[in-house]
Amino acid sequence: MKLYEFQAKNILKNYGILVPQGKVISSSDDAPEVFREIGCASCVIKAQILAGGRGKGGGIQFVNTPSEAQTIASRMFGSSLVTHQTGLKGAEIKYLLIEEAVSIKKELYLAITIDRSLQMPVLITSTEGGMEIEEIALRAPENIIREPLDILFGIHPFQLRRITSKLGIPITPSSKFTNLLIKLFDVFVKNDCSLLEINPLVITSSGELCALDAKIEIDDNALYRHPEFEQFTQYQDFSQAEVLARRYRLSYISLDGSIGCLVNGAGLAMATMDMIKLHGGEPANFLDVGGDASLEQIIQAFEIILSDYRVKAILVNIFGGIMKCDVIASGIIQAVKEVGIHVPLIVRLEGTNVNAARKLLNESGLNIIPAKDMKSAADAVVKASNNGYIDR
Ligand code: GDP
Ligand code: MN
Repeated sequence: MKLYEFQAKNILKNYGILVPQGKVISSSDDAPEVFREIGCASCVIKAQILAGGRGKGGGIQFVNTPSEAQTIASRMFGSSLVTHQTGLKGAEIKYLLIEEAVSIKKELYLAITIDRSLQMPVLITSTEGGMEIEEIALRAPENIIREPLDILFGIHPFQLRRITSKLGIPITPSSKFTNLLIKLFDVFVKNDCSLLEINPLVITSSGELCALDAKIEIDDNALYRHPEFEQFTQYQDFSQAEVLARRYRLSYISLDGSIGCLVNGAGLAMATMDMIKLHGGEPANFLDVGGDASLEQIIQAFEIILSDYRVKAILVNIFGGIMKCDVIASGIIQAVKEVGIHVPLIVRLEGTNVNAARKLLNESGLNIIPAKDMKSAADAVVKASNNGYIDR
């Protein structure tokens, strides 16, 4: 789960990390009041979207009076912000963060993420922080320092010394910086982050270190042990399907296409999506019901797929290994009866007792189109999603 900047900053604040004073609003009418509350000569209004590059896209605006805050806020609300991370459609601005404007002496870059090849968290930092970090990574990668971290021990003192000396940071005492690193690692581990990025981390004109921006991604697989994050989900833009998938704990990712996929196993789900694309279609989702899907899960999966109004056809692709195909087939039949499916349904089953399963589907009297292999299944579902024509 990606967190908004204001949510990420709340977490940082709870760990004693300095963030600018600010407040999130969802209506421009609240902007003048918040501006006065903050009580600074100048404030920054920051578009809250789940993508970066806002500064370059116009999503960061400075205001100097309460009425200016209102004017700018009303212009930003409801508009779509296009950045290099949002795609051309952009992201709708529903929340704005109003903060005191901080006077910056130097912008640093700091992030902790997982290095999958090392299988360790890695700290990435640079004195060249700010909006050009991507260019710096390309042009002068030697200015970016990477330090793998021991997840159990934390940051070793020698690593802290190495990082500060390599950075040559103009902060005195340097313990200010190393204390911050220790706190950030604590945030990363305790909150099961997959990404914690502060860009820029600034040295203010009064010599403080302040997290001017914050990006946090929480590992979805760990959300079950963070009931405190439940409050965040009301802001996140989950579709109806995603809300259901979270409730049923199914791994589901919504995509832009029109073909609903119900598959067991992540590998087969990926292969199914590839096949659909090869045949000129676009999957509406990734959905893995798991290797040992129960009847209940299959019913829930149908419910999730059908809650997406863009779905024009469904492809069920299940390999009966541990589970027998005839059991799965009766599950599908029962699910179709219970949920009531209004789009073409193509079913491809393979594995143990597949013939019995095909017989069940054929005799069910339901409008289920069996496919004998993956290729013909993909072909049939793409045609069905295009024009309702099904090649039997
Ligand atoms: P991003 O572009 O989405 O990463 O948004 P940021 O929050 O990082 O803001 C972009 C840039 O705006 C920062 O790199 C700063 O240079 C600038 N900025 C943001 N807040 C302030 C502030 O309070 N004071 C000053 N002087 N600049 C700011
Ligand atoms: Mn930033």
